Amino acid sequence: MEYRYFDNAATTRICDRALEAYEECSRRYFANPSSRHVEGRESRELVTKCRQRIASVLSVQPQSLFFTSGATESIGLVMSSLLWAKRPGRILISSIEHEAVSSWAPILTEKGWKVETLSAPGGFVSPEELERKLDRDVRLVAIMSVNNVLGTVQDTKNLVRIVREKEKEYGRPIFYFADSVQALGKTDFSLKDLDVDGASFSGHKIHGPRGIGLLYLKKGQLQVLSHGGGQEGGIRGGTENTPAIAALAAAFEELEKEDREKITAFNRATREVCRRLSMPVLTPEENSTPYILSVVTKYPSEVALRMLQDLGCLVSSGSACSANERGKAEALLRSAGFGKYAGNTIRISFSRDNTMDDVEVLSSALEEINA
Ligand code: PLP
Repeated sequence: MEYRYFDNAATTRICDRALEAYEECSRRYFANPSSRHVEGRESRELVTKCRQRIASVLSVQPQSLFFTSGATESIGLVMSSLLWAKRPGRILISSIEHEAVSSWAPILTEKGWKVETLSAPGGFVSPEELERKLDRDVRLVAIMSVNNVLGTVQDTKNLVRIVREKEKEYGRPIFYFADSVQALGKTDFSLKDLDVDGASFSGHKIHGPRGIGLLYLKKGQLQVLSHGGGQEGGIRGGTENTPAIAALAAAFEELEKEDREKITAFNRATREVCRRLSMPVLTPEENSTPYILSVVTKYPSEVALRMLQDLGCLVSSGSACSANERGKAEALLRSAGFGKYAGNTIRISFSRDNTMDDVEVLSSALEEINA
């Protein structure tokens, strides 16, 4: 059976250019970038150029970008750096963070940090609540740019502004971390405009390969726990994954192929079918990415997923990037105030690989399971 793939928020198909770059680099630049001989120097040059190319897409300084194994590691580098603190303070984490962030809460609590949650009704953090909770002891605020289940887009610019004002008032820095995995390519995302201190990105969410990600650090430095051979400015030791780095640079450049209008048309067509079928759509129309739609079905999400699969459409019963995909998505929906729908929601996520024909097949499948 030919399947139509609507689980792009979980992972995307690697694009041809990234795959070609991966293969070419594996063959031609296999030398270790730390080796002093001519081939090692060529590999080093390649890594440097890739960093520059990505920095140019993101409009940031190359020195602010660090290659990691993925967003989970990028986030872990930032969160674990707090363990160095002699006097733990407070941190604020939104209630809808991916587990790559939220799973740090119990660890940091055990080490004496006070971890407070910022509620996110409907998938949005309230600026007023952030302002209220930002006291003198807060050292870090973690609010993702785009939610992976609901597709809601935070007003990061405004949230950062509030943090900056408090910084001035208290005369001490507050690190604003924005997990931006789902923002890249899916929104008008600009690190330059946002003024965040740190952000995470993942290769496989943007048609790049697995096992490669990025950590952005505005100041280009961080006291990390993990140490090694000093690669990546000492922030992430370990021999560089040169083929994946080359493929990531290609995937970043291919982001210009994203056609938001096309995806918006897919989103509208799907919303229209859901409206006709009286299937509630939890993703709001405003301040959301068109790439992600959370839709309530009359079946438990696992059942709906199977029925749609039998009709040729692959969707997610939640956030497939966690091992217990359904449980985690349900918890997230509950924390966003959608508790009564939590067990019945599926996530439809588009990519530039989808066609209107795919969306028509999906529409028919949704009609059929509702017949
Ligand atoms: N953050 C968000 C919002 C995600 O959707 C994902 C998905 O897996 C991650 C972090 C983790 O990314 P990675 O698979 O690169 O570790």
